[in-house]
Amino acid sequence: FLERSAAKEAPPQKLRRVARGAVPTVAVVGRPNVGKSTLVNRMCDAGTVNGAIVRDEPGVTRDRVYQRATWGGRDFEMIDTGGLLFDDEADALFLEEIREQASLALSESCAAILVVDGREGPTRVDEEIGAFLRKWPRDLPVVVAVNKCEQVLTEAEGAAEFWRLGLGEPIACSGVHGNGVAEVLDALLPAIDGATRRDAPRAERAHVDVAILGRPNVGKSCLLNRFLGVQRSIVSSIPGTTRDAVDESVVVDGHLFKFVDTAGVRRKARVRDPTEEAMVGRSLRAVRRADLVLLVVDSTVEPTDQDAALAERIAADGRACVVLANKWDIKQDKTEKSTREVSKILREALAPVAWAEILFVSALTGQRCLKVYAAIERAVANHRKRVETAVLNEVVRDALLWQPPPASASKGAAKIYFVSQPSVSPPTIVFMCNNPTLFTNNYKRYLERKIRESLPFEGTPIRLVFRGKR
Ligand code: GDP
Ligand code: GDP
Repeated sequence: FLERSAAKEAPPQKLRRVARGAVPTVAVVGRPNVGKSTLVNRMCDAGTVNGAIVRDEPGVTRDRVYQRATWGGRDFEMIDTGGLLFDDEADALFLEEIREQASLALSESCAAILVVDGREGPTRVDEEIGAFLRKWPRDLPVVVAVNKCEQVLTEAEGAAEFWRLGLGEPIACSGVHGNGVAEVLDALLPAIDGATRRDAPRAERAHVDVAILGRPNVGKSCLLNRFLGVQRSIVSSIPGTTRDAVDESVVVDGHLFKFVDTAGVRRKARVRDPTEEAMVGRSLRAVRRADLVLLVVDSTVEPTDQDAALAERIAADGRACVVLANKWDIKQDKTEKSTREVSKILREALAPVAWAEILFVSALTGQRCLKVYAAIERAVANHRKRVETAVLNEVVRDALLWQPPPASASKGAAKIYFVSQPSVSPPTIVFMCNNPTLFTNNYKRYLERKIRESLPFEGTPIRLVFRGKR
């Protein structure tokens, strides 16, 4: 490590950006063994020199594999959701998790490819997955790829059977031979273009998109009024941006803050006690559009599982975060000690965003509400921060000396050769190493802790990616 880090230049890397949300994402779904990964590999080679990039992105759930692709001059990413199982093919617990995985993948995608097996014809499970996709809460273009159709002419007829999934024209293709793959990619382009326009590069933006998230009745809409009340004249038309009825903006100290999906905050939940699923679902859109999420909790009650689920969401999506412990006016004994205690409880309960700053505020009295803007600025600056390679390597070298990486009897000692941060929003740190499988989760957590001790990443998640020698 010492030798290598002294080298003048970074090792050649095709790696460009791995930041979540930087490019549109396409989810690949389908039952196991229909050829999803074969097809994804083919697509990621098909039009591009920058093929597969991120195979293992810690912090994001293991079962989702991201690969970078280029087609028709557009960059996008594919997520292989792993096999989607339904009903009796998996036991109930497992099923939940897989569906959740697929839902997560779909929620961050601008389109989906449903892969089916043209040799077998439509199965019951294909139909269930089709129904699942048709019911997806927002507009989600789906392309049905009928795989394993090597003999296009004779098999096109078979592919037509998949019309009955109700997802439009099925496209016959073969991941192995490559025929039809271009047609599948072409069919995705309109959705990719739409998403590219919406998700202009976050890191380069001058303004900050802020989402307000929290359980019902924690005080989100009262807080929003406070935040917007900072400046009487709400910016309704900003040059170069489209006017969006669901967003409201405010300029503080010359900085523009845009609260996204304020309609969603103001709209009172129709049901008294929405299920966690419904609540998280509603918030997904706002989180996706935000640079930073203000996670509002009620400081007068114990944090709940719903609060934790929202925190999880923010971290998984790689957004910056500030926690607002609201209704602090009600709290009776406000000593430094009691504040510290509540902070500790919150940090534990909201573990996925334990790196976030916590502010004790009151929408009612306005206490500390003005300070929220400065906290947002700090977190977003860190979210967009790029640490110099030399500094990063120094920090990691110290961490390695302090506690060497694990060794395995069969595979030998783990070695890190070089560390760099190829992307921001959120900061993504790539460890070039001999063998990524040697790094235990425990050790990854240790490295993250050491990095956070030395580098200013408060308010932002960071991603650690381990890449082996090729
Ligand atoms: P996944 O589980 O959906 O990701 O499926 P895989 O990509 O692992 O493929 C499952 C099996 O189908 C493998 O044995 C592949 O070789 C085979 N397979 C994948 N694509 C094709 C194809 O286009 N034609 C044929 N004949 N076999 C394929
Ligand atoms: P939302 O559902 O998260 O948007 O919550 P609201 O903003 O509608 O607030 C829910 C309730 O909490 C209302 O009755 C508010 O008056 C009250 N509330 C909100 N913020 C505060 C606060 O800082 N202190 C106190 N005491 N009450 C608050």
